[in-house]
Amino acid sequence: MAAEGARRSRRLRLHAFIPHSRANGPGCRAVVWVQGCTLGCPGCFNPETHDFRGGQWVGVDELFECIRALQGTIEGITVSGGEPFQQRPALLALLQRVRAETDLSVLVFTGYTWDEIQRFRETAALLSCIDVLIAGRYDERLRLARDLRGSANKTVHLLTPRYGLHDLQLTPVSEVIIEPDGTVVISGIDPLRWQ
Ligand code: SF4
Repeated sequence: MAAEGARRSRRLRLHAFIPHSRANGPGCRAVVWVQGCTLGCPGCFNPETHDFRGGQWVGVDELFECIRALQGTIEGITVSGGEPFQQRPALLALLQRVRAETDLSVLVFTGYTWDEIQRFRETAALLSCIDVLIAGRYDERLRLARDLRGSANKTVHLLTPRYGLHDLQLTPVSEVIIEPDGTVVISGIDPLRWQ
């Protein structure tokens, strides 16, 4: 059992990673999209992130080293998905290193509500590593697509003084990134704006 716990904290099922984004939180940020989500929000923009068999395993330490190497070019990281809180041991291992060994800010999107995440054993430790948490299911009937909230029911939790609501409001709603190999990535809280 202990060995299983250690394994789960050493690796993360990853959907995608981009080193520089301006539409996933304040300033320029690296973005980690985890792979796997069972919450099933109707109208989810990222259905390809749902299957836990998709994506690939990545070592938490390896991912952290990618992030650490970006210091000086980013002000923080954003973790999205998929559902980050369905990989809590690995998420915690990653964020604890970011907190302890860098000055990068941390923003996390979760589909769980604030009340739901209080039931998880790791939540207090996780919240101590996060500056901004955006919580709650995406509800297409309440689509908002601005201020980093996909729908109006989502709640914003400013867990440190590092950012205010104004910083979230200044985040562009979408962006197009052309990677060195020509791959085009469209991201942001309102990616449909480009389609
Ligand atoms: S929690 Fe996020 S990834 Fe999961 S179904 Fe809802 S919107 Fe999609």
